[in-house]
Amino acid sequence: MNTRRDFLQKITASFFALPFLTRQGLEDINDHNNEPYDGPLLRVAIMGLGSYGTRVAEAMQACTKAKLAGVISGTPSKITAWQAKYNIPDKNCYNYENFDNIRDNPDIDAVYIITPNALHKEEAIRVAKAGKHVISEKPMALNAKEGQEMIAACKKANVKLLVGYRMHFEPKTLEIVRMRKEGELGKILFFQGLSGFRIGDPNQWRLNKELAGGGSLMDIGIYSINGSRYMVGEEPVWVTAQETKTDRIKFKEGVDETIQFQLGFPGGAVASCLSTYNMNGLDRFYLNAENGFAEMQPATGYGPIKGRTNKGELNYPHVTHQTVQMDEMSAILLEGKQPPLPVDGEEALKDLKIIDAIYEAVKSGKKVKLNL
Ligand code: NAD
Repeated sequence: MNTRRDFLQKITASFFALPFLTRQGLEDINDHNNEPYDGPLLRVAIMGLGSYGTRVAEAMQACTKAKLAGVISGTPSKITAWQAKYNIPDKNCYNYENFDNIRDNPDIDAVYIITPNALHKEEAIRVAKAGKHVISEKPMALNAKEGQEMIAACKKANVKLLVGYRMHFEPKTLEIVRMRKEGELGKILFFQGLSGFRIGDPNQWRLNKELAGGGSLMDIGIYSINGSRYMVGEEPVWVTAQETKTDRIKFKEGVDETIQFQLGFPGGAVASCLSTYNMNGLDRFYLNAENGFAEMQPATGYGPIKGRTNKGELNYPHVTHQTVQMDEMSAILLEGKQPPLPVDGEEALKDLKIIDAIYEAVKSGKKVKLNL
C-alpha cells in the first residue's frame, strides 16, 4: 500500500541521488525517481518475524524493486497477522519444518534470514539447497568457519549470498567514503568507533551464548568492526583486545559485556573501538586524516545519521535504510549491480575473522595477526 509517507520517502531519496551521483561518480544507488519502475522485482520471503523482521517488512512497503512475498515463522498467529497486513497468499507461508519446499515455489526469489545469530548458518544452507538467494542478517554466522560453510553452500547451489549491511547504502556514510577514496582527506591516520547500548531483559537470546554466539561484539560491536574497514579503506593486519565485565550474572561466561579493541592497518592507521551492552546510546565514528576529519554521531543507528567533515555538515536527507537496502539488493541479485561497498558473504567473512581474532586476543592478552 502506498502512503503519503512512502511518496515523500521516494522524493527525498531522489534528492540525495543527484549530488551523490555527480560527486561520487557512482551509479545512483537508490534509483528512486518519478519514472514508473518496470524492471525486475525481487520477491522476498522473510524468515523470523521478530523485531527487526517487522522493521524490514514495513520499510519494504516503500520499495520499488523488491516486494515482501512470503514468510517463514514458527508462530502461526504471526503468519496470519502478516498475511492480512501484507496480503501474502497461503502458498507463500512456511514454518521451520517445511521451508525446504520453497524450492517448488516460483513466486519467491530470495529468503531474508532475520533470526537469532546461531541459526543463520543452517537456515542459509537450507535456503541455498532450495535454490533461492540468501540474504542473512549480521553477524552472518557465529565464526569464520561457519561463514565459510555458508559461502561454499551458496556457491555450490549457484545462488547469491548477501548480508544486511544497511550502512553500505547510507548517503552520509558513502559521502565520507567518497572523500576518502578520492584523496580529499589525505592519508588516513586514526579511526575511533564507539558502539553500544544498555541491554535490558536478561532472558533474551542476545544474552544466551548458544543463540547469540557471544555478547555485545556479535550484536553491536560489529558496526565498529565493519565501520573501521570502510572508513579507513584497508583491511586490518592485527588486533589487540581487552574485556571488562561489571555484571557476571547478567553477562555469563562467553557473553561479553564490554570489549575494547584496537586494529592496525597496513598503511599505518590504527583504530580504537569500544563495544558494549552497558552504556546507552553509544554510536560514534571519528576518522582523522592528514588533511581533515570525518565525524558521525549517530553513525549506525536507524537514523537520521548525522555527519560532518572538516568541510562542514553533511546535508543529505534521511532515507529509510532498509528500503534503500532492499531495492539495492534487488539490483545486485537480479541485475548484477555492483554496490559502492560490498555486501556479500566474503565481506561478512572478513568481519567474522576479525571477531574470531578479537575473542582470541581477549583470551590470550596478545596481539593477533589477521590475514583477510
Ligand atoms: P528478535 O528476537 O526480535 O526476533 C527474532 C525472531 O526469530 C523472532 O520472531 C523469533 O520468534 C524467531 N526465532 C526463530 N527461531 C528461534 C529460536 N530458536 N529462538 C529464538 N527466536 C527464534 O530479534 P531481532 O532483533 O529481530 O534480531 C534478529 C537478527 O537480526 C539478529 O541476527 C540481529 O543481529 C539482526 N538485527 C539486525 C539489525 C540491523 O540493523 N541490521 C537490527 C536488529 C537486529
